[in-house]
Amino acid sequence: MQQVLKRLDKAWTDFFKVPERGFPRFKTKNRFRSFIFPQLLKNCLDQGKVKLPSIGWIKIRQSRPYPVGFTPKQFQVVRRASGYYLMIVFQSTETVPDALPGKKSLGIDAGISNFIATSNQELIKSPKFLRSKLKKLKKLQLKLKNKTKGSNNWLKLQNKIALFHEKISNARRDWLFKLAHYLCDQTDNIFVEDINYKSWSKGLFRKQSLDSGIGSFMNEILPFICWKRNKFYLKLDKDYSSQECPNCRLFTGKKLLNQRLHICPYCNIEIDRDIASSLILKQRGKTAVGQPVGYKEIACGERGAGVEQRKL
Ligand SMILES: [Zn+2]
Repeated sequence: MQQVLKRLDKAWTDFFKVPERGFPRFKTKNRFRSFIFPQLLKNCLDQGKVKLPSIGWIKIRQSRPYPVGFTPKQFQVVRRASGYYLMIVFQSTETVPDALPGKKSLGIDAGISNFIATSNQELIKSPKFLRSKLKKLKKLQLKLKNKTKGSNNWLKLQNKIALFHEKISNARRDWLFKLAHYLCDQTDNIFVEDINYKSWSKGLFRKQSLDSGIGSFMNEILPFICWKRNKFYLKLDKDYSSQECPNCRLFTGKKLLNQRLHICPYCNIEIDRDIASSLILKQRGKTAVGQPVGYKEIACGERGAGVEQRKL
């Protein structure tokens, strides 16, 4: 490993010495997409440029100002389809205390035909622009199959696909961050289910969760935004949140995948199944932080009552 890194380092060094030579080649496709400088020099940041160890100053196009009061800890050079990026890890000497539970609570569940459902009775779909982009991507990938592998046209198309991939993942990330802020606007506490989304996306839910980024949303982006916004975030054990009635709390048994509604045989409530489990998550979350649970939170009676379908 050390050897490989050394070689790579030499390649980079050579490149920065003689830029005409071109960027270092990557031996196999997709190998070494990124390179880390674990130790940095003192005063290695300046406006529009950074000082890399054993390489010296290089110009960068800064995407945002450096945060004030933080020290840079690590550089990571990442190769993407659209070019090379430098990511800087900053460290703060101040510690930010974890948020304490507040008054308002929101349960959030990953939906089956929606991206998420919330206990505020909202169903949120992944945005249309993402879905149409994914369709276009599939078309391009089909086209690639008809080209001779390694030919000029094949390479060109592959490059185009890689760029498009990057565009989609940027757009998706952007949307997920907006969604996290939107949810934080509504509440003080966020409760989600602790699911291993990796195995989830391999199983029955594959079709909808594929490329949707639900795992990174629930496990990374949402807690990060909660932390930034000083909101309380808690993962709850996954135990049958979809098998309980949020209205009377009786056990109503396993639902079939195609069963869209939660219909309780005991209290007769009819409600979207994902909304029902997000309500359960909210109630469990409140119990977990020692708050009383009110049971009058559901608009009763009608089919899918109070459910708002929302596109962000
Ligand atoms: Zn019930």
